[in-house]
Amino acid sequence: MKVIKIGGGSLKDGESIEHILNLIASRGQGNIFVISALNGVTDALIDGMYAALDNENSIARIVNDLKSKHTRVARHLISCSDGFEEFRRDLDRSLSELDRLYYGLNFTREITPRMRDMISSYGERFAVELFASALRCRGTSATYRMPEEIGLYTDGKFGDATANLRKTTNNLQLHLTPLLKEGTILFLPGFFGISEAGDITTFGRGGSDYSAAVVAVAMQAETLEIWKDVDGFMSADPKFVPEAQLIPVLSYEEAAELSYFGAKILHPRTVEPLRKSKLTINIKNTVNPDGPGSLITARSPRPKKVIKSVTHDTDIGILKIHASAVGARPGILAQVAGQLTERGINIKSVVTSQTCISLLLARRDLETGREAIKSLRPRPFRRLEKVDDVALVGIVGEGLAKREGIAARCFAAVAGCKVNVEMISFGPSRVALYFLVRTRDLHSAVNAIHSTFFSVPRCH
Ligand code: ASP
Ligand code: MG
Repeated sequence: MKVIKIGGGSLKDGESIEHILNLIASRGQGNIFVISALNGVTDALIDGMYAALDNENSIARIVNDLKSKHTRVARHLISCSDGFEEFRRDLDRSLSELDRLYYGLNFTREITPRMRDMISSYGERFAVELFASALRCRGTSATYRMPEEIGLYTDGKFGDATANLRKTTNNLQLHLTPLLKEGTILFLPGFFGISEAGDITTFGRGGSDYSAAVVAVAMQAETLEIWKDVDGFMSADPKFVPEAQLIPVLSYEEAAELSYFGAKILHPRTVEPLRKSKLTINIKNTVNPDGPGSLITARSPRPKKVIKSVTHDTDIGILKIHASAVGARPGILAQVAGQLTERGINIKSVVTSQTCISLLLARRDLETGREAIKSLRPRPFRRLEKVDDVALVGIVGEGLAKREGIAARCFAAVAGCKVNVEMISFGPSRVALYFLVRTRDLHSAVNAIHSTFFSVPRCH
């Protein structure tokens, strides 16, 4: 039995979903499918919260937009009238719950973490209802179960929950095994679980990959397939480097590092639940389902290439906190981190020296982060500085830990193109080396490194 996760990027409209349904019908018997929300729906649900908070009159429009989007797709996919009616009933019930939640939010004038998670879970709920109805209409036995029905338990942390693997394993085995024995195609919504207190808790944006990993481990699947609209991990972003190649095999560590910065292939936490079981992940392109894709294994075979990929991330900025002897005053870091966490800002990375703490943040968080730290009293800093015209470059590969001179080769390539390196982080991960360059130098830097490790050196 396989667990197969289908991403929202492959679920754009009636035609693309029909293609996926055909794949499921031909390859899906006896497997479990973990489904994301249709493309753009989670964003719409979240944007809707702010609109609803602002103005009660916008609620009807938000709910109606979601209704027409799903009804349009359902019309295309569900050809039998009782199947369509069944889906419409499901959809109407879910939408009326959602409507009440939006009004509640407007009434209380507050988006609490609990409310945010509950509302954002609806995209996945609509999706499994749609898939199950559409397949049944084609005469294929299919059903869905919600995480609260089958006991997919989390630690209760809103927006960034972790699954309780022990409990979830017992519960899923109990509830799902009989369904699988009947040969039914089973759909589960990704992205969220339920806390012991009964609250809907999400695994963070893009968290359906993580859900699928949890289900795969709990159900002792033979493999976890991730169906996407790309072939898999590449040696660089092909939009940047035309000669980028598919990476056929990579390790958990390499995949996690590549996902953390840059490559939007897999949620970085996906490998977490898999470590003990050593389950393999296979990335499959739904447009090219017989292609090999990328295989992610507990251990990478002896690396033929020293590095697997050059990744980059432009959604990054630095907040520099200048103070004296910061390296000798550990309290500052805790104070700063606490202040940012309170505002919901995630620190991507930290580099400290004696005179400066450099925090790597998502670019959209830079200004809020600066304001938050500015308000600290007594002021723990001399000066705050915001740097937003930087981009991150990373090289990732098990070879980094095993061979000498890789960093030197990388920086020689960059220097050869007269690109200045702004900040380096090497050491925290065995398999990755990161540094920052000015945004205008990013293209040259990535191409120079890729050429050095994958073909003939050249500059852009
Ligand atoms: N639908 C959720 C999101 O967009 C989860 C996912 O797609 O994995 O973040
Ligand atoms: Mg999504």
